[in-house]
Amino acid sequence: MNQKRIAIIGGGPAGLAAAERISLTGHAVTVYDAMPTFARKFLLAGKSGLNITHSEDYIRFVTRFGTASVRLRAALDAFTPNDIRDWASGLGTETFVGSSGRVFPITMKASPLLRAWLRRLEGQGVTLRTRHRWTGFAEEGYVFETPQGRSVVHCDATLLALGGASWPRLGSDASWLPWLAERGVEIDPFRPANCGFVVGWSESLRERFAGEPVKSVTASSEAGTFPGEFVITGSGIEGSLIYAHAAALRDRLQSHGRAVLTLDLAPGRTAERLTRDLARQDVKSSFSNRLRKGAGIDGVKAALLRELAPERDRSDPRHLADMIKALPIPLLDTRPIAEAISSAGGIRWSGIDEGFMLKALPGTFVAGEMLDWEAPTGGYLLTACLATGRAAARGIETWLSR
Ligand SMILES: Cc1cc2nc3c(=O)[nH]c(=O)nc-3n(C[C@H](O)[C@H](O)[C@H](O)COP(=O)(O)OP(=O)(O)OC[C@H]3O[C@@H](n4cnc5c(N)ncnc54)[C@H](O)[C@@H]3O)c2cc1C
Repeated sequence: MNQKRIAIIGGGPAGLAAAERISLTGHAVTVYDAMPTFARKFLLAGKSGLNITHSEDYIRFVTRFGTASVRLRAALDAFTPNDIRDWASGLGTETFVGSSGRVFPITMKASPLLRAWLRRLEGQGVTLRTRHRWTGFAEEGYVFETPQGRSVVHCDATLLALGGASWPRLGSDASWLPWLAERGVEIDPFRPANCGFVVGWSESLRERFAGEPVKSVTASSEAGTFPGEFVITGSGIEGSLIYAHAAALRDRLQSHGRAVLTLDLAPGRTAERLTRDLARQDVKSSFSNRLRKGAGIDGVKAALLRELAPERDRSDPRHLADMIKALPIPLLDTRPIAEAISSAGGIRWSGIDEGFMLKALPGTFVAGEMLDWEAPTGGYLLTACLATGRAAARGIETWLSR
């Protein structure tokens, strides 16, 4: 076989998945990463249990990637959630399905899986190079900053798997944007996805309730109505229930300059029942007492009502019940992308062929979060990164064997 040299730049889940597949073909594969160790974001995801994929019905699963679902479909079909569980098991990490359908390693950690994965790659002949920061193009190839100084890499094919723009301190800092844009690659600006939002809380709410979880509520936006919980932060709101609405709220803020998340603080009770129970309370007793006795609401939920419900609605049982069932939280902005779980935007699909090669840069392939797709939390992100990494690897194999 005519052995070719393949550079994979970016050693996160997408880059490592590609390396695992291409190295089986006998080509010489080197993975370069800017950081002192590989896959730091993957390791961080392990701190919250590593939700590696989702067990829901596959037909529903493949729709979770919005407008990019169609372009991702072939890659997902070739590396399905079940394949991911088998793959993890092959690396010694058994998984289980949590109550929400999300899939986690039994150990709830990423590090044993990553260690076994890197061992497997080395066993398959992959060269692993950390502290190699790609800094752009030179006539002759890809330029890297390394501990030994500048180095230029020539190769037969390159995969860029540089990640999105969230948590830049873990490595994916999107510094590559101008280098690819100069070469004619079309890129949609990165935006926060699965992010928190800024709310103009009063000083007193911030002081007393920042860090406090708001549990057993439902929240509604254009995305739909979902049950769950979230956290009050010093600057606004954050957490899984907020992430479920984040794309819709972010887009609404962008198009209209304002957005509202509507909370139901008592999902188990109807407005009629709340009205009746509140009407039974002594009008002379305090707002807190009426809420606690009439609606079972106290603590942070009562504080939210005090903060957001107009004064005039608090004394009228019907109006107060309506506020409990549909309390609007006005949002001022998204939190910065550096704090988001993931990013939306990235390299446009129109500039990529079926094999994940950049049309503007033949021989250069792309995978992972640097592409223009987004998905909710739930294991969808890692699944798509692993699947596109493997799909780009197939694209490289096909291209090299032309
Ligand atoms: C707190 C947190 C928790 C998460 N939890 C989950 C979860 O439970 N489930 C889930 O599905 N997803 C989760 N995610 C998202 C998931 O981790 C990412 O979507 C995924 O890691 C992206 O993979 P990637 O390979 O595309 O990019 P990355 O993982 O970002 O890897 C890109 C790599 O490229 C390297 N790189 C960047 N620029 C250069 C350069 N110029 N030169 C050389 N190397 C470079 C970086 O150092 C990095 O190692 C979480 C994210 C965060 C922040």
